[in-house]
Amino acid sequence: MSKPLIAITGASSGIGEATAKAFSAAGHPLLLMARRVERMEALNLPDTVCRQVDVRDREAIAAAVADAESQYGPVDCLFNNAGIARLGDIGEQPPEEWDETIDINIKGVMNALHPVFKGMKERRGGTIVNMSSIAGRKVYPDHTVYCGSKFFVHAISESLRGYLAPFDVRVIVISPGIIDTEVLDHVNDPNTLKAYKDNKVRIGGGIAASHVADMILFAYQMPQNVLIQEMVVTPTRQEY
Ligand code: NDP
Repeated sequence: MSKPLIAITGASSGIGEATAKAFSAAGHPLLLMARRVERMEALNLPDTVCRQVDVRDREAIAAAVADAESQYGPVDCLFNNAGIARLGDIGEQPPEEWDETIDINIKGVMNALHPVFKGMKERRGGTIVNMSSIAGRKVYPDHTVYCGSKFFVHAISESLRGYLAPFDVRVIVISPGIIDTEVLDHVNDPNTLKAYKDNKVRIGGGIAASHVADMILFAYQMPQNVLIQEMVVTPTRQEY
């Protein structure tokens, strides 16, 4: 019997891409969503629907989910991963960067949940993995709105976990520290970028996205009555 469908937002690079590869290697059909559709298509993974989706577009996500489900059956796991890190000095940062962070990291997370969680509740099974960050557990002065967006992920995950637990649907939060991806490409404030990079060098560098992907696959593969509620992963030398 074929394995269930896994949906991943932000699958065109970094942790989302690594997780797509891990679940594909485990034999799952995939729905991959991001704006750079050519990057997802270039992965050339079997039984995979790639859709150009901006997570700010609720209808586009719903349409992509409906399309993939018509081919592979219901989404059994959503990796709600798409996000942007517009880090910067809050006194200098243009409010447009706040808007972007809120629209993608907060509203986008809700938009991706909307077409999947009610079906999981009705089917009495499924797994949601919401992407937070170490910045969703503690605050950093130049991460103000980003921290706010990731604390949001923790709050709604805890609430949703309580809502869905009686229906055997699992809600997992993963909070990585410094992972080697394209995330820093989106930091426009040169001082913040320099401080981040200096700290990264100081701790001996970030770690590979494949480690995060392996953790997500491990948590998913546990029996449905076993819930790893939260996972925090950092480079060993990242002490805060
Ligand atoms: P990347 O920049 O490599 O990946 C980000 C992914 O999100 C891309 O696939 C990008 O696709 C997608 N994305 C961004 N904006 C949108 C949008 N509006 N609509 C759809 N997709 C979007 O970085 P990471 O892999 O590191 O980031 C993945 C997640 O991990 C983020 O939520 C980030 O906050 C979180 N994280 C990362 C850490 C790190 O150190 N790397 C640490 C902690 C958390 P595209 O541009 O093609 O749309």
